[in-house]
Amino acid sequence: MAGALTRMATDPRSPTDSAGLQGSRCSGDGCAVTVYPADDACPRCGGPADPAVLHGTGTLWTWTVQRYAPKSPPYQAPPGGFVPFALGYVDLVEGVRVAAVLEVDDLDDVRIGMPLTVTAGHGVPRARPTTPGEEGS
Ligand SMILES: [Zn+2]
Repeated sequence: MAGALTRMATDPRSPTDSAGLQGSRCSGDGCAVTVYPADDACPRCGGPADPAVLHGTGTLWTWTVQRYAPKSPPYQAPPGGFVPFALGYVDLVEGVRVAAVLEVDDLDDVRIGMPLTVTAGHGVPRARPTTPGEEGS
């Protein structure tokens, strides 16, 4: 069991906390498809893809609330035990839809279309509401 947890923590596609999202972008002529997580080949044309760090800002496409503890492993309950959490899909500005745990103070505050900033987490990306200073251009 410890082996499974170790393998998950060292998965090369699971960057450390606060790291940018490591995606990839097709380098083929006129394709330029961006994907997350990174892949060596483009899913549209099969051509080569280059690593790309995604901006991480976007809007919530849809979401749900996980009300019971997921299967463990790979899920690891926090020290205080399981607490229901929101999970959603975020449409990034790059045109990529990423699944992420929503880090909100109150589940009643979650709204489709709300601006979110996504960062890489341990295995699953994390999304938190974008603060006004982060929205940029
Ligand atoms: Zn392509």
